[in-house]
Amino acid sequence: MIIAVDGPAGSGKSTIAAAVAKRLEVGHIDTGAMYRALALKVLRSKLPPEDASGVTRLLPGTDISVGDGRVHLDGEPVEGLIRTPEVTAVSSVVAQHQPVRVWMVDRQRKVVHGAPGGAVVEGRDIGTVVLPDADLKVYLTASEEQRAKRRAAERGGSEAEALMEVSSRDARDTAREHSPLRAADDAVVIDTTDLSIDEVVDSVLQAMRERQHP
Ligand code: C5P
Repeated sequence: MIIAVDGPAGSGKSTIAAAVAKRLEVGHIDTGAMYRALALKVLRSKLPPEDASGVTRLLPGTDISVGDGRVHLDGEPVEGLIRTPEVTAVSSVVAQHQPVRVWMVDRQRKVVHGAPGGAVVEGRDIGTVVLPDADLKVYLTASEEQRAKRRAAERGGSEAEALMEVSSRDARDTAREHSPLRAADDAVVIDTTDLSIDEVVDSVLQAMRERQHP
């Protein structure tokens, strides 16, 4: 059973994907963490993240693995290093480069297909590009203000700063040429603005049951 969970920053993807995976006893794969790990490598290498050829040249010597809350970059556990504002901003710049996306999608499909019993996979292009045959596609949304509020609560800092971060990342993620953020045509769209975590998890599980027994 494979569930794709897409949506913009702060829509609740990680929390919901982790909770649904736990309830279904399958793995949770956070593809954003892979883009973040690459962003960390780009920052360390001092390359400008906009330099598509430079970033592409890093890929053959790069190893990124993810699964159930762990992220490794070239064998190093980096989960504690990839949630900084700097890595966050650079992740959506490197994610614009087509060779990066091809490299990521290939790895993501291998991880998902190797996951016993399936997985809940979260990202921006999971239902549209990575796993177009997913058993269920969920697209989470929430008002920009609510998303900024959640971000600020999670990461610290002011809501005004979080709003700037969320809106500039949304702009890059939705306007990019390759695999922009959008809901798949057959996705179940859930607006999480006024819903509790449990309510969203229940909606996803309900949608799953409806897909299995229409
Ligand atoms: O989900 P998260 O906020 O950790 O993702 C960081 C960035 O990685 C996003 O802003 C987006 O640019 C990129 N990303 C992507 N495709 C995915 C997952 C993340 O382009 N499937």
